[in-house]
Amino acid sequence: MKGAAIFPGDHTLGVVHNVPEPMVESLSGVKLRVLQVGICATDREIASFMFGTPPDGFDYLVLGHEGFGEVVETGPEVRDLQPGDLVVPTVRRPCDDPACTACRNDRADFCATGLYREHGIMGMHGFMTEFVVDEARYLRKVPVAIRDAAVLVEPLTIAEKAFIQAEQIQMRLPWNKPAENHRAVVVGAGPVGLLGAMALRLRGCQVTVYSREGESDTRAVISRAIGANYVSSQEQTPDQMAAGIGNIDLVYEATGSATLAFDMIGVLGRNGVLILTGVPGAHGPQAIDIGALITNMTLKNQCLLATVNAGSDAFDRAITDLTEFCLRWPDAVRGLITGRFKVEQFEQPIRNSAGIKNIIEMAS
Ligand SMILES: [Zn+2]
Ligand SMILES: [Zn+2]
Repeated sequence: MKGAAIFPGDHTLGVVHNVPEPMVESLSGVKLRVLQVGICATDREIASFMFGTPPDGFDYLVLGHEGFGEVVETGPEVRDLQPGDLVVPTVRRPCDDPACTACRNDRADFCATGLYREHGIMGMHGFMTEFVVDEARYLRKVPVAIRDAAVLVEPLTIAEKAFIQAEQIQMRLPWNKPAENHRAVVVGAGPVGLLGAMALRLRGCQVTVYSREGESDTRAVISRAIGANYVSSQEQTPDQMAAGIGNIDLVYEATGSATLAFDMIGVLGRNGVLILTGVPGAHGPQAIDIGALITNMTLKNQCLLATVNAGSDAFDRAITDLTEFCLRWPDAVRGLITGRFKVEQFEQPIRNSAGIKNIIEMAS
């Protein structure tokens, strides 16, 4: 079968035509026909050979971790899924270390050894291929009603995992502040940012999306359509943006810009939580006043939370929330998918990041 792959050995990309078709071999295995796969910055980094490890015995890695497919075959012990069901697979698989409490408790997203595997990233082929076999417990069923948006489940799980943790952290405040009084800033209007903004709006928070695009950009239009305020970083500095809001309870940083993430610590309010989801990489040293930073954070009871990947609880919440987004803001959700490509064209959206979310239509 076909698969969109990278060859780390000689630094090339291409469509492989002889990827072995997987078979259902275990009692709880499920075979999927892949329908759509989203592309994000992680895929671009893998395609730039910054990381990405093929499975044992292969010189190539099939890309794709934002998958969506249809069940075509199930093992005899699979009870909750049947052919025709639509599913989204989770990405990470547990490490083998018996002492890894996280993996032994089905929370590979908190793996303590770093020896986990990830579809399309580390040690396992991804979803940009025709068929995939996985264990039923790693597949989350999605309603037919969100078939056109289900490829957005995985990027939404990043926000959902972050907000599940932020809610737990804010239980430290022994009163129940109504959601409409929560002021949140989403930094970066990519898919992870805009989906996060939708999740916060669904909970009733006041949301400001702060991003580099101008006020008339599609991202600004989508932000306003979901009832969020949009502020362009071309128009206002972080301090100016924050001055118009009041005490900021939550900052959700989804840009991967180290400078912007750091600037946000300065605008976070008292008792606030700053969530980091970006992976900026090393950029060399920069002079900062660490003492002032720590003093400010301590005196304001602030919390810095960095988060990666997601567990099945975040996938389940993403599916529930996305179903609600599609009811409330169908045009805004539709507007997030800006490019559709055949698998033979996969290098185009990998090389050119224009648009919001580009996807590969595997079944076309
Ligand atoms: Zn991704
Ligand atoms: Zn582990």
